Amino acid sequence: MYSASEPTAFLTRLAAIVGASHLITDPADLAPCLTDWRGRYTGRALAAARPGSAAEVQAIVRECLAAGVAMVPQGGNTGLVGGATPDVGGRALVIQLARMNRVRSIDRVNHALVVEAGCALAQIQSAAEAVGRLFPLSLAAEGSCQIGGNLATNAGGVQVLRYGTMRDLTLGLEAVLPNGELWSGLTALRKNNTGYDLRHLLIGAEGTLGIITAAALKLFPLPAETVTGWLGVASPAAAIDLLSKTRMGFDAQLTAFELICPLSLQLVRRHFPHLPPPPSAPWHVLCEFSGSGEDNLRHKAENFLTARLRDGAISDGILAQTNAQRKNLWALRENISEAQKKEGISIKHDIALPTSRVAEFLERVEPLLTARFPDIRHVAFGHLGDGNLHFNVSMQNSAANARLLAREHEVNEIVYDLVHTLEGSISAEHGIGQLKREFLTRYKTPAQLAAMRAIKHALDPAGLMNPGKIFEAF
Ligand SMILES: Cc1cc2nc3c(=O)[nH]c(=O)nc-3n(C[C@H](O)[C@H](O)[C@H](O)COP(=O)(O)OP(=O)(O)OC[C@H]3O[C@@H](n4cnc5c(N)ncnc54)[C@H](O)[C@@H]3O)c2cc1C
Repeated sequence: MYSASEPTAFLTRLAAIVGASHLITDPADLAPCLTDWRGRYTGRALAAARPGSAAEVQAIVRECLAAGVAMVPQGGNTGLVGGATPDVGGRALVIQLARMNRVRSIDRVNHALVVEAGCALAQIQSAAEAVGRLFPLSLAAEGSCQIGGNLATNAGGVQVLRYGTMRDLTLGLEAVLPNGELWSGLTALRKNNTGYDLRHLLIGAEGTLGIITAAALKLFPLPAETVTGWLGVASPAAAIDLLSKTRMGFDAQLTAFELICPLSLQLVRRHFPHLPPPPSAPWHVLCEFSGSGEDNLRHKAENFLTARLRDGAISDGILAQTNAQRKNLWALRENISEAQKKEGISIKHDIALPTSRVAEFLERVEPLLTARFPDIRHVAFGHLGDGNLHFNVSMQNSAANARLLAREHEVNEIVYDLVHTLEGSISAEHGIGQLKREFLTRYKTPAQLAAMRAIKHALDPAGLMNPGKIFEAF
């Protein structure tokens, strides 16, 4: 651990590694990386270093280890649980991967590409599209979030139903471990059973087990045809029924199935009034079908939805006729988080449930919450196809909202206890970060917690890799 007079020497050594212009110490330049996207957490740091290669990341990690400085890996800083925000101690180093943004290679025949961790997700989607392939991870923050952050959070998004989460899309990884060694597992093999697979520990570890520097990822054929529909349904239960029927009818051609509550839509319409309104309905579903272009998918979708209109499964519906219409429908869904942010801070729950129990959760949670907080309002939306709900609660005026936030723990207990009872998870896709650490220990078994702690101690005995995330202390 360095003494009070040593930070300057430490920073000088870092500047020698990354170049002075890539070591951020000026408070104004540092500020954006010290606060999370929602503005819930603000920390302090010695500096932010921006390495340009895995070798530079290694050198930084070794300096931090020698000086006893905590490291906070940071990608696009769009995470929603405070995982990339340093604590308030001011003695950590933020390590930003943005300069490591090269697509190293694309193998069309193997349907794979190798990218550096700082590539923005949208950049990878475009690189794949340029060679007629699809990289299917897709989420509203895709212009800013980086693949390293997507891997570290095991991101989900809107196409998990068809293609899986980030974990399912990853063939190999390269990472700098907390001891400064480079772990090279950058193979693009579909099969490789050769002992423990560190890849799966690093994915979803939220930067607590090492710094991901590159990844080999799966590609898929680019769909030639996409059909997007906005449907009105009577209730979440009706949406679940419809999902089940749609899956049976379309199987892998169903690539997205999103549930949207009326308040979500109302907030988007308030803050993004230029977006055309969809048909009014008690609840909404945005679904998408994708195909090779030879299966007359539009015709099949039209027939299917006409039958559902007739049997009352849906009350109304439109299919996008142009790409512009499709984009507008998706914008209604993708701007929900932004619209909520504009309304002020809400208490967010990113939960997973067996899809068959999502409606039961919504029916049971509402009376439990209103009994304790009579004027509470909730925004419920999410990736119904994956049983993933974003269930966010707030009060209408800011004074009442501040009072609710002061009782966040009580709200969370109600929501998460019910999720646990229904055999769900308190984090579907955002991770634990700082936001949910106390609840992780509430629901994991002692054996699960002990195994997680043993892994952390084995890889990071000094506890310097993103401390205070997932667990308050390991
Ligand atoms: C509008 C909006 C919509 C969103 N929608 C979704 C969604 O649909 N699905 C979803 O899953 N998430 C969603 N998110 C959350 C967020 O975008 C994802 O968690 C994303 O994967 C974070 O990537 P990032 O690069 O911004 O990571 P950051 O926020 O920078 O970091 C997130 C975590 O990863 C760690 N980390 C970052 N880079 C590395 C690295 N190279 N090596 C090791 N650790 C690293 C950080 O330390 C931190 O713990 C959304 C966020 C916003 C703002």
